[in-house]
Amino acid sequence: MQGRTYTADAEPGDEVTVAGWVHETRDLGGIAFLILRDATGRIQVKFEKDEMDDDLVETGLDAHRESVLSVTGEVAEEPRAPTGVEVVPAAVEVLAPADPELPLDPSGKVDAELPTRLDNRTLDLRKEEVKAVFEIRAEILRATRETFRDLDCTEINTPKIVATGTEGGTELFPITYFGREAFMNQSPQLFKQLMAGSGLERVFEIGPIFRAEEHNTPRHLNEATSIDFEGAFCDHTEAMDAAEAVAKGAYEAVEENCAEQLEALGLDEEFEAPEGEFPRLSYEDALDRVNAEGDLDAHLVWGDDLSTEAEHVLGQSVGEHYFITDWPSEIKPFYIKDHDDDEELSTGFDMMHPRMELVSGGQREHRHDRLIAGFEQQGLDPEEFEYYTKMFKYGMPPHAGWGMGAERLVMTVLGLENIREAVLFPRDRQRLSP
Ligand code: ATP
Ligand code: MG
Repeated sequence: MQGRTYTADAEPGDEVTVAGWVHETRDLGGIAFLILRDATGRIQVKFEKDEMDDDLVETGLDAHRESVLSVTGEVAEEPRAPTGVEVVPAAVEVLAPADPELPLDPSGKVDAELPTRLDNRTLDLRKEEVKAVFEIRAEILRATRETFRDLDCTEINTPKIVATGTEGGTELFPITYFGREAFMNQSPQLFKQLMAGSGLERVFEIGPIFRAEEHNTPRHLNEATSIDFEGAFCDHTEAMDAAEAVAKGAYEAVEENCAEQLEALGLDEEFEAPEGEFPRLSYEDALDRVNAEGDLDAHLVWGDDLSTEAEHVLGQSVGEHYFITDWPSEIKPFYIKDHDDDEELSTGFDMMHPRMELVSGGQREHRHDRLIAGFEQQGLDPEEFEYYTKMFKYGMPPHAGWGMGAERLVMTVLGLENIREAVLFPRDRQRLSP
């Protein structure tokens, strides 16, 4: 608004117009206080009833909590006010009244359950600690773009409406596209590979992925944000370096630039950026460790995927971020390249936070004939993917890459319990609106 003064910039002696939400009012009889809140903080407005116009006092004090008011007046020093200053109003205007009954209490005095919060995100994000999560999320994405720039990557955007899924199968949401069946893309995998083979060579994308997974867990969404990297002339170890750089860059940016937000979340004391290199553990070592240290129902054998429980045991045991490398080829996707000296062993890797998987990646199969064989072994018709496979006939360099869940990154950086807290309007089995 023209001429609006931010709460944080109000100095004693200034004539200001502050505008924001009614955080609370305190009526002490002859004198009353209104606390007005905006994005930059809170300010006290003092009403001296005997010395002020009745209309002015009524307008200021009768507005329900969370109404939006504009207050013009002079700033005075007041050591007892929360910010050391207060506004003595000369004019008060109600810009938007709020109902007396609110579905959620933004002052945070009354706790709300997550579903109520998600149904009323606008009010929910008037709370310092919730706003802080999304400011930190934005900072993490900003830092991620910077890390990718340091890695000489070009940002791309690939289609989300596709004719065929990346890996086919059951995890796709079908849609109707001008009378034809189409799908929401589960991953930019194939498109980013096509771009690694283009003149761009090293690319990244931050965009939505859609997974029609039935499960309902604290770490899965049906629409998530994926941070994707793909680089020509990279092998799996360089791809791991890039994933590690992005994760560390996120922590460092939050540590450097989000002191206020960490404080709002009560994390200012305990926040720690990871130090040193993330250990790289082979799948085989991971199995041994789980079998030796965990108390799982079943002994894990070569070829087993790691269950949530096994991931948990490993996370506890390692106690920091780590990679799991050299997976059995049979449990990694067909487009991941096997080791040249051992076809049973894949170059696929996962990057793990002690609480959960953050990244899956690997070097890609860039040899046309092997790729076609992979599609066939997977039970997919290579013809349907011809737009992709044919580019492997025109000079597709060796390349590697990965996908990282942005919400999982935010969730683990901040120690959030539920992934839904890291996304404004989550999509899950039950939730389609708002
Ligand atoms: P998980 O085994 O934990 O379900 P995944 O192996 O199926 O994950 P990938 O297909 O490897 O997931 O996707 C790469 C990354 O994208 C994951 O490591 C994760 O960070 C993120 N991701 C994948 N699926 C989801 C989802 N449903 N919700 C949120 N993030 C996801
Ligand atoms: Mg994975």
